[in-house]
Amino acid sequence: MILPGKTLGMLGGGQLGRFFTVAARSLGYRVVVLDPDTGSPAGRMADEHLHAAYTDAWALEQMASGCAVLSTEFENIPAESLRRLAKHRPVRPGADALEQTQNRIREKQMLKAAGLETVPYAEIQGLEDLSSALSSIQLPAILKRAALGYDGKGQVTVTTQETAQEAFEYLGKVPCVLEQRVDLDCEISVILARTASGQSCCFPIAENRHRHGILHMSVVPANIDADIKAQAEAAAAAIAAHLDYVGLLAVEFFVTRDGQLLVNEVAPRPHNSGHFTLDACVTSQFEQQVRAICDLPLGATDLLRPAVMVNLLGDLWANGMPDWSLLLANPQVKLHLYGKEEARPGRKMGHFTVLADDVTTALRQAEQLYQQLR
Ligand code: ADP
Ligand code: MG
Repeated sequence: MILPGKTLGMLGGGQLGRFFTVAARSLGYRVVVLDPDTGSPAGRMADEHLHAAYTDAWALEQMASGCAVLSTEFENIPAESLRRLAKHRPVRPGADALEQTQNRIREKQMLKAAGLETVPYAEIQGLEDLSSALSSIQLPAILKRAALGYDGKGQVTVTTQETAQEAFEYLGKVPCVLEQRVDLDCEISVILARTASGQSCCFPIAENRHRHGILHMSVVPANIDADIKAQAEAAAAAIAAHLDYVGLLAVEFFVTRDGQLLVNEVAPRPHNSGHFTLDACVTSQFEQQVRAICDLPLGATDLLRPAVMVNLLGDLWANGMPDWSLLLANPQVKLHLYGKEEARPGRKMGHFTVLADDVTTALRQAEQLYQQLR
């Protein structure tokens, strides 16, 4: 066990790293953050912030010599950097797990190898793959870059043969997947923690509602039947076992209109849809990440109250800072702002969580508050 007093290293300095840093420091750890951005949300909260590239030899040397264990909050940290660090210190999750989830093609192959069902898709390396893909994948479909997509970026809806080619050119003719667009009943996510000793534990399942490909709100508990819940938890456990995973893992699922559960994608880190755990669970996903990478016993994941989490995107700043007094006036609302200086459309600036005695009330209040903020 890596006990409080030791120093933990975090690669990536966004809001996920920020909440990790706060959770770790509350437990009495020191935290060093590596992120090239001098104003990074996590760097501001850390004991030490190294602003250097994720491949910088000096910075990696500092992280390896100064930290008892290293983790990541961003799946696109170069696997090579993690391999270098792993020669000196435990890196949790490891380079292989990150590599499997950094790329949609590798990720889908991994899911298949773990025995799980995904959306029908075809791998597109070049224009020639498109025509054969269009004979096997029903339209409308979604063309997604294999690497570096997030928040709906790097995706184009394809409705005809001609738009498929345009879409591929628009995305820069890089490797892609063409996915059938499925009819969704809902989207859910499972967040699972697993320690080096093999203890594992899931958080309550969230139902996730998106707008323009970006998470808008998470509703907990999700309104799903016990069978889907059991299948989703088993799928997350199968992925963790397959990857020999240590740390926090998030799995996004589609529940189709005909009741099928499909894995959408996997994130090797805490997840936006787990932010409700900060205020509504005994243990937050970030404290659980600390516990998992330090090989401490995992904390309880009980939901204390039904909750709805709403993202605050930069669009809300169009006419200046939103009026926070609207949220602060309600004692059942918890506001979190990430300390980002520049508000750009689509950029995640913060979130709020509404707690209530039942989901319907939490949802109604969350929707009202969001409308008032706009
Ligand atoms: P990102 O990495 O940007 O989160 P996702 O693949 O999760 O990418 O896509 C973002 C959102 O777009 C999903 O949460 C879902 O709402 C919608 N979406 C993506 N792929 C499909 C699909 N094949 N069928 C239906 N909806 C989809
Ligand atoms: Mg997603």
